[in-house]
Amino acid sequence: MQCFHPLAGRTIERDPATGLLFVRCGECATASALFEYPTAAPWVRRFQTVAIASFAFLALAVVGAIFGITVGFASAVPGFVAQASTARVVELFDEGGGLLEPVVGYERVQDTIADSVWLASDAGKSAMRAARSDARPLLVLTGFCLLGTLAIAPFVLAAGLVCMRRTMVTRVCVCGGLPLISGLTVLLDPNRVWQPAVFWSSPQTWHTWVTFHNSPFFLGVVVAWFAFLGIVGGIVGPAFVARFFRFVLPPRDRRLVAWLWHWRGKPVPLD
Ligand SMILES: [Zn+2]
Repeated sequence: MQCFHPLAGRTIERDPATGLLFVRCGECATASALFEYPTAAPWVRRFQTVAIASFAFLALAVVGAIFGITVGFASAVPGFVAQASTARVVELFDEGGGLLEPVVGYERVQDTIADSVWLASDAGKSAMRAARSDARPLLVLTGFCLLGTLAIAPFVLAAGLVCMRRTMVTRVCVCGGLPLISGLTVLLDPNRVWQPAVFWSSPQTWHTWVTFHNSPFFLGVVVAWFAFLGIVGGIVGPAFVARFFRFVLPPRDRRLVAWLWHWRGKPVPLD
């Protein structure tokens, strides 16, 4: 106001008596009141830039996590579940007059060398199929599917978020296809017990026989469940995350993540 020296960039001070903000000129020391109060606008823009730049990294991390979790569950769970169905197969074999000695516990029999002639017959194959719906494997399968849901839920929601600028069809294909591809790599892994070359290499126990026959089925169930979760995440992910930020951020701070609404063609909610 006095000497026309530009005041941009001067330190903003607060008058202790009135609480009003002012800057002091670096040339003539005249104090000038602020016409415009400072806002966080530059920081909002910086934050948005960082958020958008982080998107590529987030996408890679999400793909890696979904792939890793699906491969982990598809590798381990079908064997456990298939083994839980072995008891029923041995029971069916015994009911047909198979076991020569009275059985104390079927658990003990399962680790002995199996009657491969009976298991390879139609009666044996139908017994292994029937054992899939036994209560024991279904209980184990349900438990693992619940565990898997908890593990993968944050990542399928994030996957939906990463794809939020794509159409619904694309999101469903990407988020549901990722677990399917992961499961396929496990199914085709040449070192798995369900591969004939591995299985027929030596005489096998009841457990291994039933694992050989029933694992691919349970693997299909596990991967189908994960693919379903992926599709759900792809559909509801963006809306879910927007709702989350609406809950945790007060209206004036929601502009930090305004793209959550803008990219879906919606205004940032102010209530
Ligand atoms: Zn001045």
